[in-house]
Order: sequence, then structure tokens, then C-alpha cells
Amino acid sequence: MGVRRGRNVIGFDGSMCDLSHKVRYVPSIYHHKMEYNFRTIIEPFRIHSVEPLHMTTRDQRIGAIEECGFNVFNLHAQDVLIDLLTDSGTGAMSRDQWAAIQHGDESYAGSPSWFRFEAGVKELFAFEHIIPTHQGRAAEKILFSVIGGPGKVVPNNTHFDTTRANVEASGAEALDLLIAEGRDPSNLHPFKGNMDLDALDGLLATRASDVPAVFLTITNNSGGGQPVSLANIRGVSEICRRYGVPFFLDACRFAENAWFIHEREPGQGERDIADIVREVASLADGMTMSAKKDPFGNIGGWLAMNDDALAEKCRNLLILTEGFPTYGGLAGRDLEAIAQGLKEAVQPDYLRYRIQSTAYLGEALHAAGVPVVMPIGGHAVYLDAKALLPHVAPLEYPGQSLAVALYEVGGIRACEIGSVMFGRQPDGSEKPAAMELVRLAIPRRTYTQSHIDYVIEVVSAVAARASSLPGYRMVYEPTTLRHFTARYEPIV
Ligand SMILES: *Cc1c(COP(=O)(O)O)cnc(C)c1O
Repeated sequence: MGVRRGRNVIGFDGSMCDLSHKVRYVPSIYHHKMEYNFRTIIEPFRIHSVEPLHMTTRDQRIGAIEECGFNVFNLHAQDVLIDLLTDSGTGAMSRDQWAAIQHGDESYAGSPSWFRFEAGVKELFAFEHIIPTHQGRAAEKILFSVIGGPGKVVPNNTHFDTTRANVEASGAEALDLLIAEGRDPSNLHPFKGNMDLDALDGLLATRASDVPAVFLTITNNSGGGQPVSLANIRGVSEICRRYGVPFFLDACRFAENAWFIHEREPGQGERDIADIVREVASLADGMTMSAKKDPFGNIGGWLAMNDDALAEKCRNLLILTEGFPTYGGLAGRDLEAIAQGLKEAVQPDYLRYRIQSTAYLGEALHAAGVPVVMPIGGHAVYLDAKALLPHVAPLEYPGQSLAVALYEVGGIRACEIGSVMFGRQPDGSEKPAAMELVRLAIPRRTYTQSHIDYVIEVVSAVAARASSLPGYRMVYEPTTLRHFTARYEPIV
């Protein structure tokens, strides 16, 4: 017998036979309704268009990284085999997103694409004012230009690098108030992105008038991609309302965060993902957003808020640097791609695959004895370079050393998140970051399980010879966001 299709049966030889006049045959497998739980993670899509990968030899990679001053950001992407530098703007767009792009209307003002974008955002984040920007940091720059300034302090669970840079560029202080569990790479707390509510309450009790907004980054990118619980978000919201301080979300990975709430938080397992997202948004007064993350955009972002006066100031700045308020630095087609991407971002089949496949990489490395931040986060696996390279001092950049080795050995590009990224202080001094991590960020819907199996092999091989990896010193350092353009040399 073959596969049943209505009343026909397709035989395994491909022939069809009509069963209309025959006795209905029901194979025994259909007698019970048990769902089989197969372990293989199935990508909930198939490939429609392919991009070639470019193979290199180890000698070529050594030459390339030396020429780059040992900074993986300086590499030509052509010379990278598996690019895990970031999940930002690197995801694969869907057939429906490419189709939406054809609907892009490039009218300067009031394009239908803008109205579809605005409606798509408000469907999940019902803020009064939606202000489109070309990416997340543009939203941050505009907001902190208005609300920041010397003497102000902005708390966050953990500021992302561009957020910290924009807060500090305004003259304000960026303060991280993560729970203690979140700074311990091996602690298995289910919501390691949570804000320390007592610390927040304490800060606002003494300095509420210096705090222009409280931020919460979901998921906590710089702290291991760890989620924030709904209970914690409610707690932050309650404290902010009590002190009359606006509460903003840095919501780049809102859908992955909602999936973790759905999976891990008591009482949330039956809820729709979009419904969880809407509740999270309702607890806040505004948000900054990079559409290059969960919404599957290759570019884009937005700033949103309920406060009319604040929105007016932000729109005026937007016109100065980004564009008219109905496109904000984006083409109409980009607005369309994001509007469609937002619908796909909250689909449970996608999110299940997304989170499980990231965990697949992290758990395989953990099982192979490679120190990784546990539990595995949403968009990335974070290698603990401090634990893997104990012979390299924090200010000789163990994460940088590990990132170079991953490229040299296997053509994998990863991103240091440690003392290179966060070591330079606003007063000019240098001090070690809380953790020395190397982030393997997984672009959305882009790599298959065999790519990831290869990554597991390469990381394991590098880990096996970790004790021979050198520290690095910087030979060129720019004044801000130094990790992007610094140059190094190995300490031999
Ligand atoms: C990416 C990111 C940003 C900045 O967004 P860009 O689009 O890269 O400018 C801000 N916050 C977090 C948490 C991010 O991951």
C-alpha cells in the first residue's frame, strides 16, 4: 500500500489507483492517534533560492586575517565560510517577503507601504506614535538626543553596545542592573535577562528625577541572549509607574523572548505568542527597535512611544537625519518586507525551530566540554572565553583570541563580546568586562543542520588547543565602538 490522498492511493511505484469502489483500507498505523516525537529538528521551510559559499584554505585565511589587523570585522565576507558575526540583517527573507517587496510604493509621503508597516507594528506594539528609522541605533540616537544629557542615568538590564554608546554620547550614564544570576555563565536560571528589581527600586527612590527612562532589553543580547520573564517585565513596569518614570523596551528579539515566556513561565504555555507580545508592549511606554533582528528585515527599525510631546521632538530630529516621518530612511519596499516579516516572526512552528536549533548547537558544544553560557539563549550561542583561555588576561582579550582562531581553523566568523567591546570607559580608563564571551550568532533561516554540525566540529577542534592561543594587544583604537575598527597584534 502507499500514501493515502483522499480516496486515492499513490502506490510506492508512483501509480495511482482509485479506491472509490473498493473496500476502504485503513493501515493499522492509523488505529491510534499517538503523535510521534522525532528528535530531528526540521527546518519549517525548504530552499527556494541558494547562495554559493566560498571555500578557502587555512593559508589563505591566515593571510586574510593578518591583513585585517586580526579584526574579523575587517574581513571580506567572501573569505568567510560560515558567518556567525551577527544575526542582524543576515536572515533569509521568505517568498512572501520578496513578494511584498513588489508592492513597495516609493511615494515620498504617505505611501501605502508606510500604512502597512505602521499597522503591522501596531498589531503587536500598540503605541500611539510609530517613527520609522533605518536601523535600531538611529532610533536610539534620536531618543537619547532628546531625553539624555549630562547628569542623567539610564538603567537597563544590560545595554547593548550601540545603546550604551548612544546614552554615553549624550553625556548620560548607562547603568546595567542585571540580576546576579545573569552574570554567571553556568547558572541555569530560566530568565537570566531579568532586571534586578530591588536595585531599580533603590535607584529610583533616590534619583528618579535623573532617570529619563528605564530600559529593558528583550532578549538580553550582550548578556548571552537570555530572556526576561513576563513577571519581571510586569515588575519593572510597576516600579516605573510608581515613580512616574517612562519604561522603554529595546525589543529587537521580542518574539524569541515571548517564545521563552511561553515555554518556561508558569501559566503562559497556552497563550498565543502574539498575545504575549501585546501584553509585554502594553506594560511599556515606548520602544526602540531594530527590524534587522526578529522581524526578518535586511535593514530597518523604529522608535515608538505614547507621549505626544516626546514624539514631536523625535519626529523633528528624524526629519533632520533620517527622512520624512512616513519612511524614516527606508525604501517603501523595506517597509513592506518588515510588515510581512513581523507576521512570520510570531509563528510558533518557526519559533520552535529557531530556539531548538540554537540550543542544538549550544548543547552539543556543552556536551563536548566546551564552556558555553547556559542555558542556551535565543539567537546565539556564547562561548565562555574566560573559562576556555584562563592563561590570557582579560585585557589581552581572550574573546578576540578565540574569534581569530575560529576563523583561522574553520572559516567561521564570530563576535567578541567582552573587554574589547566594553573595556574602554567613558573616563578613558580600561577595565575588564563582566564576562569574556564570543558570540556565535545564528542568522535566521539561513544555515542548515549540516552547517551547524560543521561549526560544532570546528569549535571543538579549537577548544582542544585553546591553551596554545595567544593574547592580543591593540595597535589602533578608535574613540567609540572600538571593536568595529580596532587593529591588533598577537602577543608572542
Ligand atoms: C542590534 C541591536 C541594536 C541596534 O540595532 P541596529 O539595527 O544594529 O542599529 C540595539 N539593541 C539590541 C539589543 C540589538 O541587538
